Formats: sequence, structure tokens, C-alpha cells
Amino acid sequence: MTGTMRAAVWEAGSPLRVETIPIPVPRAGEALVQVSACGVCHTDLHVMKGEVRFPSPAVLGHEISGRVVEIGLGTRPEQIPAGIELGDRVVGAFIMPCGTCRRCESGRDDLCERFFELNRLRGVLYDGTSRLERADGSSLAMYSMAGLAEYCVIPLTALAALPHDLPEFESAVLGCAGLTAFGAVHRASGITEGDAVAVIAVGGIGLSIVQLARAAGASTVVAVDLDDAKLRMAADLGATHTINARAESDPVAAVRALVPGGVDVAFEAIGTPATLAQAVAMLAEGGRAVAVGIAAGDAAVSIPITPLVRRAQSIVGSFGARTRTDLPEVIRLSLEGRLSLADTVSRSYDLDEVAAAFDDLGRGAIAGRAIVRMR
Ligand SMILES: [Zn+2]
Ligand SMILES: [Zn+2]
Repeated sequence: MTGTMRAAVWEAGSPLRVETIPIPVPRAGEALVQVSACGVCHTDLHVMKGEVRFPSPAVLGHEISGRVVEIGLGTRPEQIPAGIELGDRVVGAFIMPCGTCRRCESGRDDLCERFFELNRLRGVLYDGTSRLERADGSSLAMYSMAGLAEYCVIPLTALAALPHDLPEFESAVLGCAGLTAFGAVHRASGITEGDAVAVIAVGGIGLSIVQLARAAGASTVVAVDLDDAKLRMAADLGATHTINARAESDPVAAVRALVPGGVDVAFEAIGTPATLAQAVAMLAEGGRAVAVGIAAGDAAVSIPITPLVRRAQSIVGSFGARTRTDLPEVIRLSLEGRLSLADTVSRSYDLDEVAAAFDDLGRGAIAGRAIVRMR
């Protein structure tokens, strides 16, 4: 397919601008997807603010839904995920595993060495180049698949088929919020039936964690946030208790008052030193704190050693999940109604309003997740 498309271009120090650029051409092992919607995630905001280093100029956006319109020449049939054909609806995940490094070979797509080295550090795909350029031929870096555009090129390893019973636009958030929550709950937390859980920060990812923790059998889920609207959404989606950390002088004591002895699992979904320290302080003996929120720059936290050792607690980081095995699982959970998209996605913007969408996110004005619709 040739022609031009509109894309939100980010240049360090300037606001996002919608530009008209050539439609990218997929190569072997890649698909061209006509994007339906792309989620508005804090990680993109971290990049724009310079808190996560990334080359500029670039097209950001890393969780999409859309339709496969072209498969790259030279793609081998076994590279195409089961059930995906031209014209099919798909979801794209932000971790786009290379499929060949030693981590991918052992199934750990979340640790793909080449993804971090090529895409996250250099903004390119697996042949070492970007598929995007400006009208003048200068290259644009790609953050994941560069989903804030009308079309994107994405490695086939990062796609899963989107069933017709799930919504075309809202399903975009399965590729980062859904996948990240799945990894935190099912890969990192060691959650078991009857566990008591705290979720600190109930934005798009925290709300998904609340739902998946309930689905995994947690009997108590305490949502902690600064915003009552977000806490109400958490309660609607299965949180058994809510704590407004602005109203409570000590959220740790408030959690411990609700759950004597502390929680078995505390998820931290905002990425600040204070909240990660709180997550650890909320734990019961043998409890696990799961760090999910991306922190700004080299933020660090100080943790008292003796209680950690004496109570045999753990602190574990969790980044995304294993795309090729877990994205289809996330879609299945959503299809079963255990991960509600309608209740997670609260706002949608047109591509022309993309700068306002990120302003609203930065001001904390979005409860749940927002999406940008491309058409
Ligand atoms: Zn994200
Ligand atoms: Zn890999």
C-alpha cells in the first residue's frame, strides 16, 4: 500500500504535532496494520517529558487495535500467528519479541534482548532501521509499533487475533494495560486463592490489576489512590475496599487496619519511591510487593532490611508479560468478562486532539484509560 497517513510526531521540547507522512512498508515477519485506536499511556508521557530516554523525533503510541492490511514480502507462513489473515482484526502488544534471542527461545518475551536494544534504545525494528520517515525523507524513531498514527508496521510476534465479540476501539488497551496487569498478577505476584491484595494507583493498569486479581481468587482487594473518581471505578470493578491516600494521613496504617497483619500481595502501579516503600510496608509475613509503575529517571527507594528478611518478604519487578503466550490469554479473559474494557476505557479522543489527551493524562484528569481513535 502506498500513500500518506497522519501521525502524531513527537520532537523533544515541543508539543505533539499531527503530520502527514508516508504510509510505512512492512518487511519480512511484519504486518502493516490500519490502526483503529491507540491507548494513551503514562509511559509515552514519561518519554515526552524526558523522564524515559528515547530518540527524537519519534512516533510514540504502544497499544493498538486495528486491521491487518498487508503482510511483509518474504514472510514465512509459520511466522504468522494462528488465526490471523489479511483483513482480520488484531490487537498489538507493546513488547514486540524478536522470537530468536535466548530469552525469547525460553519463552521470556518480556526480557527479549533485541527488543530492548533495538526498539527501546534506538527506536528501530529488527533489521536496525525504522519504517517511518517524514515527507522530506528524514527518519522518525518508532516507540514500539508507533501506534499514534493511521497505520503502523508491527512484528507479527506482537499480534493476536481480536474476536468479533470484543470492541474494535477499546480493545487497544489490551496491548499494554491488559498485558502489563496480566504479567503482574499471573507471572510475578504468585497470587493464590483467598489472598488479600492492595493495588496502589488505580489508573489504566491498576484497574486492570484489580479485575485480574479478583478473577485469580483474591478475596480482599484494597485500592489506594488520590482520586475519588478513580477509586469509585475500582470499587465498580471489584475492589472490596478503597482508601483515598490524600484523605488518610497514613495509607499503610489504613490498609493494615482493614487487613490485620498486612496484605499478601501489594501492587505498585505509579512508580514513585514513596508508594513503592508503602507497598513493602503493607505486606504480611511472606508477602510480595510487585513493582509495575515505570519510574522517572533514576528514582530510588530505601527499604528497611530487617523486616524484609525477618518476614521473608519479596520485592519483584514486572514489565509487561510474555506477549506470544500471554496476549491471547488477556484477550480470552476479556472475552469472558473478567477484564472489562467498557469500564476501563473512559474517554476517547480524535487523532487531532492527541496533544490534549496527553495533557489531560498528565493532569490526572483521566479516570481509567483514554484511547485515541484514528477514524
Ligand atoms: Zn503503556
Ligand atoms: Zn528476543
